[in-house]
Formats: sequence, C-alpha cells, structure tokens
Amino acid sequence: MTMNKGLAFVVSAPSGAGKGTVLAEVLAEVPGLTLSVSHTTRAPRPGEVDGISYHFCTRGQFQTLVRHGDFLEWAEVHGNMYGTSRLSVEKLLAEGLDVILEIDVQGAEQVLRRMNPPPVTIFLIPPSLAEMERRLRARATEAENVLALRLVNAAAEMRTMSDYEYLVVNDRLDEAVRQVVAIIYAERAKKRRLLSGAPAPLWGV
Ligand code: 5GP
Repeated sequence: MTMNKGLAFVVSAPSGAGKGTVLAEVLAEVPGLTLSVSHTTRAPRPGEVDGISYHFCTRGQFQTLVRHGDFLEWAEVHGNMYGTSRLSVEKLLAEGLDVILEIDVQGAEQVLRRMNPPPVTIFLIPPSLAEMERRLRARATEAENVLALRLVNAAAEMRTMSDYEYLVVNDRLDEAVRQVVAIIYAERAKKRRLLSGAPAPLWGV
C-alpha cells in the first residue's frame, strides 16, 4: 500500500442516528476532509445524485468489482450491497486529504484489519430507539418493510458500538457536530502522527 499522508476515519451509525446530517456539517466545517463515495446496488432516494451520494450500480457491476478485488471492503446491508473503492481511498489519502468512510459495522471490521495505519473509528448513537424510529419515519424514504428491517438491524448494530474508539450521542445536532470536529482535530494533532513518517519531521526530531 502507498504511504498515506491523510488520515482515515470510519463513521458508523444505525439508520436514523442522523449520520448524514452530522457528517454534512462536519465536512463543511473542516478543511482538508473529504467523504469517500461508496458503490451501492440500492436505488437512489429522491435528491441523491450519482457519483456524489453514491456510485449507483447493478448487482452484476458490483459483483465484477468484487471479483476484481477493487473494494477495500464491502458488505450486504439491509438487503443491498455497499462497497468502498480501494483505489479512490488510496488516492485521496496519498493527496494528503483526510477521508471519512461512512460504512456499516461489517465494513468497519474489514478496514480495521486491512488498513495500515488502521482508521480512527467513530460510532454515532441516536439518543434513544424511539427517537431513531421517529427520525427514520420523518425521512419517509423507506417502505414500511424496509423501515422495519432497518429498525431490527439497528439493535444489532448498537451492540457493536463498544468496538469503536469514539462514541458520539447525536441528541443535539450542533453538539454532535462539535464533538466529531473535535475528534478529527485531536487525531490530527496526535504526537505519533506528527513525529512519524511526515515528509518534513517537526523541528528535525
Ligand atoms: P443508506 O442506504 O441509508 O445510505 O446506508 C445504509 C447503510 O450502509 C449505512 O449503515 C451506511 O453506513 C452503510 N454503507 C454505506 N456505504 C457503505 C460502504 O461502502 N460499505 C459498507 N460496509 N457500508 C456502507
């Protein structure tokens, strides 16, 4: 793997935790930070743009990418396939950008094993199951059966949160954004990061 200059962050959350909203604000606020655009076989929601929200593809196209080893990680989530392009993440990191991988818990497990250095992991928690369901219903983009599946899966996803380094409760949006931004700046300032592998070591130490 190429020398990474940027940092990778994994952000996972159950559906309805408000991850999309929080990350949009974090990305607008933090320079040098970008979002990895995943591939998915899920149909676009109203307002989603191909190449920006996701690279939308068929199952056949997805399976070809899997066979060619093009994914850094991939998983089936809520009945659809999702995957992260290895090349595009490597390119962004090599350019010195910090990259957020907005992926599920199965994907997080895979990248933790495959990336060196491993990504920083953040889990976003909804304030309660009731609030999560309310947010999912308010979005009203999913059919009732899909919504039910997402709620069932949420319980399993919540059980894995202790595997993550950082937990952020998304009760108040501005507070959650502030915490994620703080985590990113703290990770950027870590001693091991500034003193190792940097092109120009700090003060020649
Ligand atoms: P949604 O369909 O709501 O956009 O995403 C559903 C779930 O798939 C979320 O938990 C989201 O984080 C996850 N997801 C999105 N992209 C990827 C990906 O590239 N890999 C994996 N493993 N999960 C993803």
